[in-house]
Amino acid sequence: MRQLLDEAAKGGYGVGAFNVNNMEQIQSIMEAARETKSPVIIQASRGARAYSQDRFLYHLMIAATEIYPEIPTVLHLDHGNSVETCKSAIEMGFTSVMMDGSLMADGKTPSSFEYNVDVTRQVVELAHAKGVTVEGEIGCLGGIEDGHGAGLDGLSHLTDPEQAVEFVKQTGLDALAIAIGTSHGAYKFSSKPTGETLKMQRLIEIHKRLPNTHLVMHGSSSVPKDLQDIINQYGGKLKPTWGVPVEEIQLGIKNGVRKINVDTDNRLAITGAIRKVFMEKPEEFDPRSYLKPAREAMKKVVALRMTQFGQAGHASDYTPIPLAEMAKRYETVAA
Ligand SMILES: [Zn+2]
Repeated sequence: MRQLLDEAAKGGYGVGAFNVNNMEQIQSIMEAARETKSPVIIQASRGARAYSQDRFLYHLMIAATEIYPEIPTVLHLDHGNSVETCKSAIEMGFTSVMMDGSLMADGKTPSSFEYNVDVTRQVVELAHAKGVTVEGEIGCLGGIEDGHGAGLDGLSHLTDPEQAVEFVKQTGLDALAIAIGTSHGAYKFSSKPTGETLKMQRLIEIHKRLPNTHLVMHGSSSVPKDLQDIINQYGGKLKPTWGVPVEEIQLGIKNGVRKINVDTDNRLAITGAIRKVFMEKPEEFDPRSYLKPAREAMKKVVALRMTQFGQAGHASDYTPIPLAEMAKRYETVAA
């Protein structure tokens, strides 16, 4: 992932990181990547690893790289809660891991700065020795994702720019997730957020102090109204909600954001497509009759984000560096 983010920084664009749990979601992302000629970050949370039993995920990802050899593809661990979790991901074949030491290993309790530095630095040592990239987090995001999160409102633990500088210096990580008011899940804001609500000034300040650190925006689904409407039109009961406007993400990309996490939008697209088939063709019972439209709906959302983030057209700019070579590069930097 380090190479992919370095390239994105060079080209001044961002790369979407899309969560997966199953084959159809992986296929949606890879198809969108081929269509838009985009490099790809696929990420799996602890919940996703448990759901797919790790080995299914592993072999599905191998299949993805066989079928789409022209696409630089990252498998990233989303919100690793402990050094052990990150270690097992690295052993399983993830090419990038997130050590989220902003929370304790229970994934709920905000931790101390010292704890965060300690666990993140341990993962950096472990990961870099194998050529694997590390994302860390400073400050706490709002909401809960797959049981992970303090359940805060997104504004109570914003990233302190000075602390961010110290954190990067002491850990040597590659990418930094910052808290600027975003939350996980569908219910992020009760009205359309502005650059003020989102603390974009803080993001810009962090980038000024850390121009060489790749910033990551979590909880960055836009939760578009048309996707909400499809669900509600076909029997769903979503309450009105707003996500992160794409134009704010694009402002972030102009200011050092290289990885943008998107999950909710894809969940909405899948569920809307399935509900539509269930309502319109209640006689259908072949799972393909609703999984195919679901896959197509997610592909459309992913392709649109890839274009909006600017990664489209960049798949063939470079050849992925093998992990062993990356490990050597990290060694040189550390020495
Ligand atoms: Zn997240």
